[in-house]
Amino acid sequence: MTSSNRVTLKPGDTIGILGGGQLGRMIALAAARLGLKAQVFSPDPDSPAFDVVQNATCAEYADVEALELFASDVGVITYEFENIPSSTAMILAARRTVLPDPKVLETTQDRLAEKDFVTKLGIGTARYADVSSAQDLKAAIAAIGLPAVLKTRRFGYDGKGQIVVREGADPDQVWADLETRSAILEAFVPFEREISVVAARSADGEVVCYDVTENEHRDHILKFSYAPARIPDALAAQARAIAEKIANALDYVGVLAVEMFVVPGKDGPALLVNEIAPRVHNSGHWTLDGASVSQFEQHVRAIAGWPLAHPVRHGDVTMTNLIGDDVLDYGQWLTKPGATVHLYGKGAPRPGRKMGHVTEVKAPSK
Ligand code: AMP
Repeated sequence: MTSSNRVTLKPGDTIGILGGGQLGRMIALAAARLGLKAQVFSPDPDSPAFDVVQNATCAEYADVEALELFASDVGVITYEFENIPSSTAMILAARRTVLPDPKVLETTQDRLAEKDFVTKLGIGTARYADVSSAQDLKAAIAAIGLPAVLKTRRFGYDGKGQIVVREGADPDQVWADLETRSAILEAFVPFEREISVVAARSADGEVVCYDVTENEHRDHILKFSYAPARIPDALAAQARAIAEKIANALDYVGVLAVEMFVVPGKDGPALLVNEIAPRVHNSGHWTLDGASVSQFEQHVRAIAGWPLAHPVRHGDVTMTNLIGDDVLDYGQWLTKPGATVHLYGKGAPRPGRKMGHVTEVKAPSK
């Protein structure tokens, strides 16, 4: 394996991006602004990221020859989604520096490993238990209580691979419905709000966090982000400290997001970590128009071995996701004063598909 987590690119060099979705597209656009080229690797010929780069590799993630060629074409490799097959990551990392280091994925691809990791750092999470059978589920319910959320350990996103277990539910049926062999049961968190911290860490170990973002979901999919989050400053500082601790413990290079719940506590609101996303994140899209340097540029800087920015927020920012048919209203958004529209160039809108987003910046309230 290539052991270094440090590269130094020059303008004109190429970053390789695994994955061709909107995140890859926005990373490639940020790279272009800094005079860097991007090459996108994706098995989907309709990848939105292909539209904005000159060099694209359309091949399966198991295609060793294509991966080897890709690795030889680029100066550093990054990824825009976390479910990279570990064999793909190994093949690439043996030939080229991959940032963030794919060993991070062993922790973040598995909800149990992730919760254990966070807990060992002394950071709070919802109570949880390992569940591999209906029998385990019954024991976990007895230990954790109801309501609770049963989640697949791997490959869950946007609420997929999870079932809320309520009083009176039949554990055998719930277990059968999840259609998995390995899961965790989490206590249902009666959160006041959901927040996230988007943070960047350089190879030198410097960590720069954006202002804490508040997130609202509809049908388990992010709908609105607000920056700054409407929480006390001390709690925001705690949230940033948690993200920094996690980034340092992972020896992370690049941008990551840490999703947290704000819960009422006897000494005021407290934080529980829900999830770590080892990549640029939807809740950081507001930074494209609401901050002097976006999360995408910050990620490019980190993996290129360039200095991190210390971004200035331009005001109070609202980000609205255009999900499915929402995108059909793009004409109205285009005429709304103060709104900046981002469309991802995807084909037909499907329910739940992220098609674009809009940012609105108002003069700062604090
Ligand atoms: P996740 O896939 O873990 O990010 O979960 C998606 C969404 O489901 C979260 O953003 C929450 O809105 C909700 N959720 C997940 N876990 C819990 C929990 N333990 N308690 C309450 N709501 C949850």
